[in-house]
Amino acid sequence: TNYIKEYDPEVGGALEQELGRQRRNLELIASENVVSPAVMLAMGTVPTNKYAEGYPGKRYYGGCEYVDVIENLAIERAKQLFGCEHACVQPHSGASANIAVYQAFLKPGDTVMGLNLDHGGHLTHGSPVNMSGILYHFVPYSINEEGFLDYDEIRKTALECKPKMIVAGASAYPREIRFDRFAEIAKEVGAVLFVDMAHIAGLVAAGLHQSPVPYADVVTTTTHKTLRGPRGGIIMCKEEHAKAINKAVFPGTQGGPLMHIIAAKAVCFGEALKPEFKTYQEQILKNAKALAEALKEEGFDLVSGGTDNHLMLVDLQNMNITGKELQRRLDEVYITVNKNAVPNDPASPFVTSGIRIGTPAVTTRGLKEDEMRTIAKLIKMAATDFDTKADEIRSTVNEICGRHPLYE
Ligand code: PLP
Repeated sequence: TNYIKEYDPEVGGALEQELGRQRRNLELIASENVVSPAVMLAMGTVPTNKYAEGYPGKRYYGGCEYVDVIENLAIERAKQLFGCEHACVQPHSGASANIAVYQAFLKPGDTVMGLNLDHGGHLTHGSPVNMSGILYHFVPYSINEEGFLDYDEIRKTALECKPKMIVAGASAYPREIRFDRFAEIAKEVGAVLFVDMAHIAGLVAAGLHQSPVPYADVVTTTTHKTLRGPRGGIIMCKEEHAKAINKAVFPGTQGGPLMHIIAAKAVCFGEALKPEFKTYQEQILKNAKALAEALKEEGFDLVSGGTDNHLMLVDLQNMNITGKELQRRLDEVYITVNKNAVPNDPASPFVTSGIRIGTPAVTTRGLKEDEMRTIAKLIKMAATDFDTKADEIRSTVNEICGRHPLYE
């Protein structure tokens, strides 16, 4: 950052301010994390100069002997980490990975089932504003009144609409997803089962969530959420689909791979294979449980009544505050969350009646259960007594962040 600041003060200045923000704030966005120095450094390395269209051993450019080593390391480590037969590590992002999967298995107009965006699904699971919803005929499924996936209902919908593919996975679902149940339904109706495990990949890698790999035909994940790697995506599948998947990524939907990012993915998978990674994922869960319990004690309602994973959805309707307003107030006191629709939300998606809170980033930073209980109290103060308590919240956040320095 210092070098860039001298070389290009405008960009360097903004980078320095962003570092300051990350040091100052409690990061509770469920899809974010804090990468290790090794992952961070790998992203700024020389393969950024290299074109490597194709795959290891079969490139369209010369000079690929060392980037082949890098990509093979990422592939082999991903296979070992998740126990999959094939891994494509080239997708630039989670959305790119998902687009490639659709391209590999579907024709425009095919029927696909995906979790309703308002109920925790992702844009790429069939939203009408996303390419997935424009190209394919998505039939959404929902979560029930209690906030859980209802596999009997999902089966009923599948029997009715006879989808070519069922997408399982979510961006805002606090409970365990039963991939074995999804597999039974997909098998019964003859659909391809596609699992997007972006949010929970770290938990899956550590054996703390049922793995979709034995059950699904194809699995995607982002590498930057609980998995704690660079921003990017990967696709895993059985050997029989390997060719179709690779072809759908390149030349189907992407050009040259980002080899410096693939280097960082390899470093991330190497970290995730170490025993410390399991301890880290266990602490994410302990922190999420502690925060959920403490929020309930403070009077907050949680969708589904709690959490099994790294995130929770707070339903604010009993607190007389919108998701948008609470997000704004928390920003002012250096706590970062995102507003999030709750099931059957009466408010618009720009306002919402909920917030989503996750523990991966603060757990990386070293926070433990006691601090989760403090955070619950701070969120309550922000929701109910903001004007008189804002300074107090800021100084407590300051103390906590001071105890857990970032990139020092
Ligand atoms: N899939 C799920 C379930 C996600 O939650 C996300 C991101 O939030 C994505 C895919 C998209 O990932 P990206 O932002 O890398 O395109």
